[in-house]
Amino acid sequence: MTNTRVAVVGGGIGGLCLAQGLHGAGIDVTVHERDRTPADRLQGYRVHIDPDGSRALRDCLPPELWEAFLATSSRDAQDFRFLSHRMRPLLTLESPPVTDPVDAHHSVSRITLRQILLSGLEDPSGVVRFGKTFESYTRDPGDPGGPVTLRFADGTTETADIVVAADGGNSRVRRQYLPHARRVDTGIVTIAGKFPLTGATRPLVDPGLYEAVNMVVPPRGLGMFVAPHDLTGDGNTGNTPLPPGIGRTEQEGALFDNTGGYVMWAFGAATGRFPDDLATMDGERLRDTVARMTEGWHPDLRTLVTASDPGTVSLLPIRTSVPIGPWPATNITLLGDAIHSMTPMRGVGANVALRDARSLHRALTGALTGGGDPVAAIAAYEAEMRGYGFAAVRASLKAAHQFVDENPVTRAGMRTFLRAAGRVSALRRRAAS
Ligand SMILES: Cc1cc2nc3c(=O)[nH]c(=O)nc-3n(C[C@H](O)[C@H](O)[C@H](O)COP(=O)(O)OP(=O)(O)OC[C@H]3O[C@@H](n4cnc5c(N)ncnc54)[C@H](O)[C@@H]3O)c2cc1C
Repeated sequence: MTNTRVAVVGGGIGGLCLAQGLHGAGIDVTVHERDRTPADRLQGYRVHIDPDGSRALRDCLPPELWEAFLATSSRDAQDFRFLSHRMRPLLTLESPPVTDPVDAHHSVSRITLRQILLSGLEDPSGVVRFGKTFESYTRDPGDPGGPVTLRFADGTTETADIVVAADGGNSRVRRQYLPHARRVDTGIVTIAGKFPLTGATRPLVDPGLYEAVNMVVPPRGLGMFVAPHDLTGDGNTGNTPLPPGIGRTEQEGALFDNTGGYVMWAFGAATGRFPDDLATMDGERLRDTVARMTEGWHPDLRTLVTASDPGTVSLLPIRTSVPIGPWPATNITLLGDAIHSMTPMRGVGANVALRDARSLHRALTGALTGGGDPVAAIAAYEAEMRGYGFAAVRASLKAAHQFVDENPVTRAGMRTFLRAAGRVSALRRRAAS
């Protein structure tokens, strides 16, 4: 069909989704991934998939893997509540009933999602090559649209006609290709952990903490996000037969358990509010730090923290990319965090990466199978991606600053606004019933 070779650098959420789509369309694609273990601690937490992400997975995955995704994700049909730190309700946004799973929100274990995205791309297809840490690329200066040679840390090289940087926020491809694109520290730090959801632990906290997604808004300077990942038993909500390789992880410890339910909490504040030695703390000391900083909060919120296994508690400094203007399209392009990494405060980074994967899959497949110009297809993809991608970066940064707003006046205004909006929607509900 086409002899064009596509090389994807980075086998994370976006890179693997793109590879699934291209491989399914019969295009010669390889993924070069630094490693294969969930060594990145973030892999341990759930990821919220919104309708953009769902649409991309449905379109790029073969049907049996889309079914496996549905079977192993918990349907995120919960309400979204804003609460005071004493758990007084401020506003509840009810989630409308959705019948088509493509239009739904889902909560999935990152490990399980990775298993699904890798399925069929390992041997014998050999699409994904592990242990390939990209270092730099070269191309003939006299032929700027010509083949690109990738060089890896193990001394090997690979030549491709199109290169896609999907190597995450610290992208080395981006540093070489768009050296003016920066990623900066926001001055905000979060500490996250997992409160296990079992028959024994459910009675310890108010059911609203595992039946809804909750945003806690204290008077100033602090914030806490609480989201359930409610799976029963084996992590397969529908007991659907799953393709080989998808299921319980062999990793030890509660952080990497991808089958049990839990409530993920993320507590945040400006860096200056935390002790100076925060970066050197282990899970237990991080957990104690959050417990100290939440003294006076509702006991159920504190129980989420204090009853979490310290092995699941980690430190997450919050960084963001800085949006840049358009650049001329070539046969090198980027997707996901590699070009528009954002704060996690709106929970959309993976969904935007998946949306990129779907758009780029459609653009490249259309050009490569229809005899079109792939660079023109990349130009169209990039023009659209810069619009929604950098808009998400800006909105996520704004949400991060609101999450830890130090100004007591604006924080009080926000709480009053949420409370008033909550009363209006309660009145509307009462009038409608
Ligand atoms: C605490 C937290 C919670 C979040 N929650 C959500 C959420 O609920 N919903 C949501 O949509 N988003 C969420 N996000 C954001 C989301 O995790 C990212 O936006 C998403 O993972 C980006 O996908 P990606 O494919 O671009 O990059 P990644 O998934 O980071 O993948 C990059 C891949 O490239 C590989 N790599 C890196 N360097 C090299 C190299 N030199 N050579 C070869 N391979 C390399 C890495 O090993 C990795 O596999 C959250 C983020 C954080 C920090």
